[in-house]
Amino acid sequence: MRIAAYLSLTLALVLNAQQVQAPLAPQGPPNQPPPNSYTRIMTGHVEASRLRRAVERLASFGTRHSLSTTVLENRGIGAARRWLLAETRSLAMLPGSRLVPFEDPFVAEAGPRVPKPTEMVNLGVILPGLDPSRKRDALVVAGHYDSRATDVMDVESDAPGAVDDASGVALVLEMAYVMAADRTAISIYFVATAGEEQGLLGAAHLARRLKAEGINVVGMLAADCVGNVTSASGAKATTSVRLFSEGVPSQETEAQKKAREALGAENDSPSREFARYLKHFGERYAENLECLVMLRRDRVGRGGDHLAFNREGFTAARVTETQENFDRQHQVPRIEGGRTYGDSPAFFDPGYCAKITREMVGAFHHLAMAPEAPRNVTLSGAATTDGQLRWTPFTDPRIASIVVYRRRADSVAWTEGQVLPPSDHATLPGMGTDNYFFAVATRDQEGFESLPAVPTRVD
Ligand SMILES: [Zn+2]
Repeated sequence: MRIAAYLSLTLALVLNAQQVQAPLAPQGPPNQPPPNSYTRIMTGHVEASRLRRAVERLASFGTRHSLSTTVLENRGIGAARRWLLAETRSLAMLPGSRLVPFEDPFVAEAGPRVPKPTEMVNLGVILPGLDPSRKRDALVVAGHYDSRATDVMDVESDAPGAVDDASGVALVLEMAYVMAADRTAISIYFVATAGEEQGLLGAAHLARRLKAEGINVVGMLAADCVGNVTSASGAKATTSVRLFSEGVPSQETEAQKKAREALGAENDSPSREFARYLKHFGERYAENLECLVMLRRDRVGRGGDHLAFNREGFTAARVTETQENFDRQHQVPRIEGGRTYGDSPAFFDPGYCAKITREMVGAFHHLAMAPEAPRNVTLSGAATTDGQLRWTPFTDPRIASIVVYRRRADSVAWTEGQVLPPSDHATLPGMGTDNYFFAVATRDQEGFESLPAVPTRVD
């Protein structure tokens, strides 16, 4: 059903594009490989019951405020952390599991939301990549395990944080569970980050650490609030989820800025391509869940762990439910004026979270299996009728073909793709540089595709 729907939608888009684009001589439809059967089996293992159990357990610690008690057995951030640590060890003990648990304590310096230096701990599991030539490439998926009450400095009140963000942590644990025995080319870090509510502290520490270790983060996904389906006004959304990503890189150099302006690439940052990729490959692996590629880095005036990765120059995006409920987030649980406040597990929808998890497992598996992406893509042919692309010659022997994506310059998503034999250049007759955007991806024999690389130079 889903495959047929996807293909017919794609076909409709292409036919539509061809009608609209007739004067610009478009070429054939996107040549997409079918959903991978192994990926499909893996995504089929995602279970709502495990997601529910993790959310209920995390909420049971009363508060997971970063400055709350670390000594009580059943309450506070320390108890939550010990439970998570035990979970990561269980993941490593699963039959055939290749997961390696890690625990990374650090001292958060005193700051606006941290009165005195405080030890915080990121933890999780790593799935080590198997391609020896890409030891330094990695993907990261993270949920934050801290929570907060109405007052961000209130360490005593209940702050169950079921949706924000036990749901994201549950998604991360479930991804690790179903991918435990996966044999990916590059590594995947499944992380529960600390101190998000106190200023993205855990994510910032992790991003700096990975950068210092020379790890190339191919993509980082922050799963934050992935289980609420009803807004405070009663609007419901169970069939879509939002992907947020920066359009203009927050850390671009002066030279990169010049190139972006020359190319008009404000909607083509690496993070935006990552979000498009998550949609493109994720949507094949869940029934009835559309990924909305939002054209902003986060909700208005708000942020999350992905921004800490952007700040280190890494590619990153955020996945979040379409309808948030502001009576539940960041609220002490209570009933006031007939309204119920607080982030209770009763409002977590495990079936919805399971669909999101399936899509993210699908997209992550595709990307972790994919060959190396093209580098240094240059666009030339300005003021001629034919666009020309060239890039650094490939060294990855797994590359079986390349895909040249394009979209008309007034559209937001790739609508067409041309599959070509491996090469270090492509000429696009009749497709001038000004009326299209282009990107190049690599594909292996099984159809696993890299992130599309957009031109970063023009000549
Ligand atoms: Zn959050």
